[in-house]
Amino acid sequence: MVQVRVLVVEDEVIVARTIASQLNQLGYIVTGTASSGKVAIAKALETKPEIVLMDIILKGDMDGIAAASYIREQLEIPVIFLTAYGDVNTLERAKLTQPFGYIVKPFTIKDLQIAIEIAMLKYRLECELRENRDQLATLLNSMSDAVIATDERGIVTFMNPASEALTGWDKEDALGTEVSKIFNLVDEVTDARIENPVTKVLREQNVVYLGDYISLIAKDGRRVPIGDSASPLMRRPDRVSGVVVVFWDMSERRQTELLKQALEKEQEVNRLKSLFISTVSHEFRNPLTVIQTAIELIELQGNNLSDAKRKTYVKRIQSAVQTMKNLMEDVLFMGRSEAGKLAFNPTPINLDVFCRDLIEEFSLVENGLHEFVFTSNNEFTEAWMDERLLHYMLGNLLSNAVKYSPEGGTISLDLRCNSVEGKVTFRVQDSGIGIPAADQSRLFESFYRASNVKLIQGNGLGLVIVKRCVEAHNGEISVTSEVGVGTIFTIILPLNTEFSSPETDE
Ligand code: ATP
Ligand code: MG
Repeated sequence: MVQVRVLVVEDEVIVARTIASQLNQLGYIVTGTASSGKVAIAKALETKPEIVLMDIILKGDMDGIAAASYIREQLEIPVIFLTAYGDVNTLERAKLTQPFGYIVKPFTIKDLQIAIEIAMLKYRLECELRENRDQLATLLNSMSDAVIATDERGIVTFMNPASEALTGWDKEDALGTEVSKIFNLVDEVTDARIENPVTKVLREQNVVYLGDYISLIAKDGRRVPIGDSASPLMRRPDRVSGVVVVFWDMSERRQTELLKQALEKEQEVNRLKSLFISTVSHEFRNPLTVIQTAIELIELQGNNLSDAKRKTYVKRIQSAVQTMKNLMEDVLFMGRSEAGKLAFNPTPINLDVFCRDLIEEFSLVENGLHEFVFTSNNEFTEAWMDERLLHYMLGNLLSNAVKYSPEGGTISLDLRCNSVEGKVTFRVQDSGIGIPAADQSRLFESFYRASNVKLIQGNGLGLVIVKRCVEAHNGEISVTSEVGVGTIFTIILPLNTEFSSPETDE
């Protein structure tokens, strides 16, 4: 047994001696005896006992309870009361000093030993507990992650300095407050309030993690992007006694992410630029070669050139020039719309007349190679739109239908106006080669061409331009297609784009 050092405080000298001798018998070391409270405190300071046996009635002004309170609080030495008074009043007063034992006289030597051993054990446990608590407090206070704890009603019971810094709340003001006052979250993208993770944990009794792009609104209104997790504190396996929220500042990480995204975007833009330049120069080379060859042939044959041949060569040159002109126009158009300078000048248009004229124009150029059909629901078809952009849109769709359909096929343009909904639907349909399902989602990307058109000439720019024109009208475009069956492009535009689209200058 470890030899425990005991101070005996007892006003009756004989009783004190008896107790001291009993203690010696039990193998304890008696560091001294005292008969008044003042002497007891002085001896406790001087002899440094590990435990004090304290009578309640003492000599002098200070009784045993007052002396015990001082010894316990100031010197942190555990005290056992040894007294003849077991009444409720005395017990209640003694309890306030948090004694480690209470023995009512007369007692046996065994009672004394048991009381001292139990008191020492309790004291050691208390010291361990305090040490653990201090360690935990140091850890939480020095950690860079913010920690808030609540009870089972969501009332704040703990905040570490990092959480004070992030939320802008002082611990003194925050303790005892509803957590949702201090820990307010919003979705950075939608700006919508997020359910407080503490409420969610209390309901689900499970660990909860925050989604991406969540910000904490600090006390001064400042928004801090954070990551967090909230865990239940379990008293028993089935009872949540509180919640611990751990969260951290994501500002720097978010900044890095944004920089990375900007860099990736710039790289993508550069990649597209290079692709654009190489594709455009490549597309110019073909017609240029045609022109060069035709001129060489004309020169070579000189005066021997027949009229028929001259006509053929001139036709080739004209067609090549036309191809280059078209490409040039598309590129210029793309450039303008890319820079946000697409001119949008709505004027009143009779859509029925516009569509009929367009179909007639195509029939004339095509000269019977395809059959063109125009249908409409004969509704009131007056609309405010940009005629030039509308011509681009439908013209490009009809050109595609012609290009990707075999000769003799039917190409139809259908016009449906719905004045109640204020919308107009254009549908361009062909029974051509169709578009493989895998390519359909990428048709509106610059230079993208489906896998089944390798042998047909094109740059993959037409639909990009169509889409930009549709967007300038605040409209939508969609496609349905089946390989070998045909394709339908549908454009839905507001009838009165004048008021729904932003004005842009050329
Ligand atoms: P251009 O820039 O000269 O118009 P393009 O016709 O190849 O070249 P887009 O008009 O943008 O380019 O069309 C993109 C792709 O969509 C085409 O290459 C083709 O694969 C597919 N496509 C478009 N319209 C049709 C259609 N009516 N039938 C089948 N495929 C089509
Ligand atoms: Mg095209």
